[in-house]
Amino acid sequence: MKILKADPIGMCFGVRRAIETLEKALSGGKTVYAIGSPIHNPQEVERLRAKGLLVVENEETVPEGAVAFIRAHGVAPAVIERLERKGATIIDGTCPFVRVVQTRARELSDAGYHVLILGDEKHPEVAGILGYVRGSATVISSVSAFLNSTIIQKSGRIPKLGLVSQTTQQHRLLAEVAQAAVGRADELRVFNTICHATRERQQAVAELAAKTEGLIVIGGHDSANTAKLCRIARDSGCPAQRIEHAGELDETWLNGKKSIGVAAGASTPDWLIDQSIRAIEEIAGRQGDVSNE
Ligand code: SF4
Repeated sequence: MKILKADPIGMCFGVRRAIETLEKALSGGKTVYAIGSPIHNPQEVERLRAKGLLVVENEETVPEGAVAFIRAHGVAPAVIERLERKGATIIDGTCPFVRVVQTRARELSDAGYHVLILGDEKHPEVAGILGYVRGSATVISSVSAFLNSTIIQKSGRIPKLGLVSQTTQQHRLLAEVAQAAVGRADELRVFNTICHATRERQQAVAELAAKTEGLIVIGGHDSANTAKLCRIARDSGCPAQRIEHAGELDETWLNGKKSIGVAAGASTPDWLIDQSIRAIEEIAGRQGDVSNE
């Protein structure tokens, strides 16, 4: 069995950077309070818990003077202010690409633009971006949501409209929203704030799916980007299995396949990928055939 690895695979720059920052903070021996799970991967969270990580839902539960960690998605400035009032030591793991969106949203609102955010309104990254807007803002996830939004329904045309995007949105959708916005605004500014990490992983999976008989995608069961990678493979006709760790590999499914692709979501740590590849190699070995690329 030929085993081919997606390139790029696993943790994106922002998540890797945040986790490294967190590990450095944990090495000080103090409990570190993360506002929300620092990564969509239960095995990695478990490993960090053993080093002193405590995941809390929000800043309200962080004790006075504690060490608080901000994950790659970032938070609203009000959250930072509340932590500062508590005398917390803040370890900021906000991804620099998320920081760009926050900065653009602030600049646009300060310059009098109504800020249009393309994204998932329930996502913590979007909540953080919204917090940087000092004027008015609308969050939309599609062109129809934009056209049906209160601001459009009420005023029809907007004098100054500024469009930014959650980092993980698709370029095609941003272009469609921008096109719809052109006809609705007297003045329109568009910032392409999409990060390439998601697209690169999706392209790598599409390429692998075209040349293998099956694809294993490693990632947390609650990781949306891992689910998307699986869907891309299946939509292109390549059977795909999603696993969180090596223990979930299905030997029967692998049986008889001459080539297997391995991909991983942007929150999957290297050690879980290595472990899974070793397990696939062992299975292939038992079936009497293994080669790596
Ligand atoms: S997906 Fe992009 S924006 Fe999000 S954490 Fe990773 S590198 Fe940063």
